[in-house]
Amino acid sequence: MSEKKYIIIGWGLAGSTLAWQFYLEGVPCTVYDSRENHCSRVAAGMINPIVFKRLTKGWKVDILMPYAKGFYSKVEETLGVSLLSNKKIVRVFSSVEEQNNWASLEGDGRFDAYLNPVDDLDHPHVNAPFGVGKVNSLGNLDINLYLDKSKEFLSENGVEFINRPFMSKMLDRDEYIYCQGYKLTMNPFFQHLKLKLAHGDVLTIKAPDLKYDDILNKNMFVLPLGDDLYRIGSTYNWEMTEPVPTEAGKNELLERLRSFCSFDFEIVSHEGGIRPTVQDRRPLLGTHPVRKGMHVFNGLGTKGVSIAPYYANMMFNYLVNNKDLDPEVDINRFKKHFMRNFV
Ligand SMILES: Cc1cc2nc3c(=O)[nH]c(=O)nc-3n(C[C@H](O)[C@H](O)[C@H](O)COP(=O)(O)OP(=O)(O)OC[C@H]3O[C@@H](n4cnc5c(N)ncnc54)[C@H](O)[C@@H]3O)c2cc1C
Repeated sequence: MSEKKYIIIGWGLAGSTLAWQFYLEGVPCTVYDSRENHCSRVAAGMINPIVFKRLTKGWKVDILMPYAKGFYSKVEETLGVSLLSNKKIVRVFSSVEEQNNWASLEGDGRFDAYLNPVDDLDHPHVNAPFGVGKVNSLGNLDINLYLDKSKEFLSENGVEFINRPFMSKMLDRDEYIYCQGYKLTMNPFFQHLKLKLAHGDVLTIKAPDLKYDDILNKNMFVLPLGDDLYRIGSTYNWEMTEPVPTEAGKNELLERLRSFCSFDFEIVSHEGGIRPTVQDRRPLLGTHPVRKGMHVFNGLGTKGVSIAPYYANMMFNYLVNNKDLDPEVDINRFKKHFMRNFV
């Protein structure tokens, strides 16, 4: 068992999933939770194995999806709550070409686990003249419930929580793991990692007439939350650097929704968040080039729910059991951008 003290900075998907690894392996850790607005609380939490634009499988889905399923199921069991919706994602085709492309993958063993044959969608409020394709998925993770219940449970079971931003003096003997989301851009120690910030807006609407229980997708998603509430999103804005909702994002979402749906609704809430994406679209795991007690677990990008469990486990084994990191995600790949005059 390790004698070191492990300090996790941030309580979003990255920090919380890493804290679970410590708990599950019986290694103590401390978590700093700033309790500020962060993107994990805004995200829809969907787990989509397919990249619809190119009709390919997402990066490493055959590894990440089963791992995520196993991990979240274990957490559900431990907490005694249901976190995954296991809903299908229903892609509404935009053209005959899109329908044909989907049909051409029928019988292709690589997609068997995920794609269902082209289907019709007969719904009075959803316009789908070219049909739909359904994707088997874990649906979505209720991230707010995951964060809140995990904190409740872990704090009662040995994980120390400090409810304020980490600004303390660092001690040489301890290990600090920065799970700060987009705020890593404000951390002077990791300026060489160059996160690309991707702002997104989401709306929650009340739509009593819609009555649809799977996740609709057509250049946007419509995610059922129960009680006639639906989360709709999301936008990508590469200029916006504040995690606040924008009027332009809201209008874009409403326009997209009206392009294929016709039902009355009222807007219940509107939120904005910033995804911590990376130029090469791979997560960021590893250690500062010079300061050996400073580490990062970040860069979960647009797919934090799918990515976090597998890589939190890799990060844990790297920190505690001296296992290697996959070079594809190791921040060593950015070492050439690190300059000695950086802190
Ligand atoms: C609109 C939108 C929709 C999305 N939809 C999906 C989706 O459907 N599926 C999916 O998988 N992903 C989705 N994402 C992406 C997902 O939200 C991210 O991948 C993930 O939440 C990133 O988690 P994180 O822990 O790295 O960052 P965050 O959630 O930002 O958490 C970082 C935390 O660290 C805290 N922190 C920073 N500095 C300090 C400090 N000094 N001390 C203490 N705490 C600190 C921050 O305040 C914050 O609480 C979406 C994102 C957005 C914005």
